[in-house]
Order: sequence, then structure tokens, then C-alpha cells
Amino acid sequence: MNTYEGVIVGGGLAGSAAAITLAQAGRSVVLLEKESQAHHKVCGEFLSQEALVYLRALGVEVATLGAVPINAVRLAGRFGVSEVPLPFASRALTRRKLDEELLQLAERAGATVLRGRRVLSFDRADEGWSVRLADGATVVANTVFLATGKHDLRERPRPAGRQGDLIAFKMYWRLAPEQAAALEGHVELNLYRNGYAGMLPVEDGAVNLCGLVKRAEYLRMGARWEHLLTAMQRDCSHLKQRLQGATPLLAKPLAISAIPYGFVRERSDGAWVLGDQAAVIPSFTGDGMSIALHSGRLAAGMYLQGATAENFQQQLHRELSQQVSLATVVSRAIVSEPRRTLVESAVRVWPGLLGSVARRTRIRPDAMLG
Ligand SMILES: Cc1cc2nc3c(=O)[nH]c(=O)nc-3n(C[C@H](O)[C@H](O)[C@H](O)COP(=O)(O)OP(=O)(O)OC[C@H]3O[C@@H](n4cnc5c(N)ncnc54)[C@H](O)[C@@H]3O)c2cc1C
Repeated sequence: MNTYEGVIVGGGLAGSAAAITLAQAGRSVVLLEKESQAHHKVCGEFLSQEALVYLRALGVEVATLGAVPINAVRLAGRFGVSEVPLPFASRALTRRKLDEELLQLAERAGATVLRGRRVLSFDRADEGWSVRLADGATVVANTVFLATGKHDLRERPRPAGRQGDLIAFKMYWRLAPEQAAALEGHVELNLYRNGYAGMLPVEDGAVNLCGLVKRAEYLRMGARWEHLLTAMQRDCSHLKQRLQGATPLLAKPLAISAIPYGFVRERSDGAWVLGDQAAVIPSFTGDGMSIALHSGRLAAGMYLQGATAENFQQQLHRELSQQVSLATVVSRAIVSEPRRTLVESAVRVWPGLLGSVARRTRIRPDAMLG
């Protein structure tokens, strides 16, 4: 039995941001992460301006880790390609590198970081919480921060959200030299039947292709990655061009299903709930990581000021619910057949629409923490 002031369940961006902030304030915290070493995650790896601000505040300069600059966004679909410059500085970096850096930072800040420790459940115990691990151990702490991201604890499933019928996948590629050159500095959003996929360059010359498809559509294809890849390229000639002569860098794609897009937690049962466990914004916005970092910093800051978990959860809900709602409406349109055409046509007529949606789905500047 160990006793800490705070226990953080999950060592992604949200959990690490909270751990670093609490440890820097001298609090005794333990972070429990189920994976024993650096690993890939299903994520488009686009770091928005807000994410970069938070990372810098935590002491991470992503450029030194090899992050590549992203200056413009392209939308590719049946009617061709539209391009707009991004209104802010952005970067791309693999989660394998970024999450590892943050975990090491948490340790250097004074947090106890325990890797390869999967949490099964947690319950109230006396004045605090008792956290049960898969290896039979128990950790006791005054406060619990839940940051397991895309994975729910069995006894704490999130509701389905407003768009819960998608499967997500990620694959790294090495593109043919002329395609890699054409992609440089860009994030490309490729639209295809019942889904979309973002493509961008990451460090070391690799390219991330990360996307979504409706579960029913994937099952119709026999639930085979090769079939999905063929269908995506048949429907989006731009993507087909990019992948000509490309080499996959993973034996098979990473995948995850039942993502509760559109979900925003309103109340707390006493635990401080962070990141994707608190709010799931559709992936095309490239905002999930900034929300995770924001929630971790906000929770730690409010905790240090003596606020309750309920105060925190309500504030986070106020700060995020509009953005998540708007993004979910757009996301549903992009992946539904007749409305996808409308979205594409609207962007062709008014390319500024992309920037407008991007601005209205971000964390508001007045909510950003210094
Ligand atoms: C298809 C897709 C594309 C995306 N693209 C982007 C993008 O380009 N830009 C962007 O900003 N966001 C993107 N996102 C969103 C982003 O990935 C998430 O919002 C972000 O990772 C949430 O961070 P987190 O810390 O809450 O959770 P995670 O990053 O999921 O981290 C949770 C951590 O908890 C650990 N864990 C889980 N269960 C347990 C357990 N039982 N015990 C102990 N540890 C546990 C996990 O191993 C993991 O390390 C995308 C998401 C998807 C699905």
C-alpha cells in the first residue's frame, strides 16, 4: 500500500500535463501508465498552435524533438483539391516521441511514474481513493485524476457520444520522393465514402495517414484493411496519387473503434476527469491534443487553488461544449454521403470556410492558461 496526495491514471498528454504541474508545485503524485515503454497511438499527430503553447509552458520545445512545420491545409475529394494557409503556426510529431518526452519530464519534475501498470478500477476509501491495479497492487491517494484517454475503465464507460459509429486507423508510410516533396508543409484531409483521413509528414521522413470510416462500411468490406485502402483510393484520386510507390512502415495499421465523438462530461463523481475521458472532439479539427493538455493544466491549477472536482468538470464543460458540438455537426456531414458533396462544394466556393470552422472549434483565447 502506498499513499500519495494524487494518483493519475493514464500517461498520455492529459495525465502527464497534470502530473508535471502538480509535481512542479511540490505535490506528491504518482502516475500509472499501462504500457511499459514508448508506443504508437492512433492519432493524426497534428499539433495546433494551442497545443504548442501548452507544450512550451510545460517545458517541451517540439522542434528539438524533430517536429516538422505545417503551414497549410488541403481538402481533397471528388471535386479536386482546395488549399488554404493555416492562420497559425502548427507542427507534426509522433505521439511515440511526444508522450515519452512528457513522461520523462513528469519524472524529472518529481512525480513517481510507474510504467507497465494497468489500473482496473478505483473506489472511494475513507477520505480518499483506493486504486486497484491488474497486478494485484493497490495505490491509495487523496485525489484521483482519470486520464485513460481512448480507453475506458470497465466500470466507468463513457456514453456513446453523438457520433459513435466510426472506426479509426493509423498507418505510417514512406512516400515516393516527388509525393513527399508535394506534401511538405501541408496537412491534407482526404474525403472518401463514409469517412476521411488526414495525411501529414512527421519526423524522420515518415508520413502519417490517420483516418476514420463508418463501422458499417468497414464491415461491408469484410473488415479488411487492404479493402478499405483500395476503396479510399478509388474514391479520392488525390490520396491514390500520394500513395503511388509508397511503402508502409508498420506491419499492420493501428486501429480503435467505438470512439464517443461529441461527448463532453458535465458532472464529476469526485474524480477529476481529463482529456478524452472528459471531452472527445472529432479528429478533423486537430484539437484533441490541445484539449487534453488544457484539461490537465486546468485540473492541476484548480486543484492547487482548492477547487473541487465538480467545479473543474463544470468549467471544462463550459469551455468546450460549443466547440465539440459544432465539430460534431461538421464531422457527421463529412462522413454522410449526400452531405459530403455539399461540404466539398461549399469549401470550393468559399475556401475561408475551413479557417472559419477551425477558429470556432479551438479553445477560446480567453480560456487558455499561461
Ligand atoms: C483518428 C484520430 C485522429 C486524431 N488526430 C489528432 C490530431 O491530428 N491532432 C490532435 O490534436 N488530436 C488528434 N486526435 C485526438 C487525440 O489523439 C486525443 O484527443 C488525445 O490523445 C487525448 O489525450 P489523452 O491524454 O486524454 O489520452 P491518450 O493519449 O489516449 O492517453 C491515455 C493514456 O492512458 C493509458 N491508459 C489507458 N488505460 C489505462 C489503464 N487502465 N491503466 C493505466 N493506463 C491506461 C494509455 O496507455 C495512454 O498512454 C485524434 C484522435 C483520433 C482517434
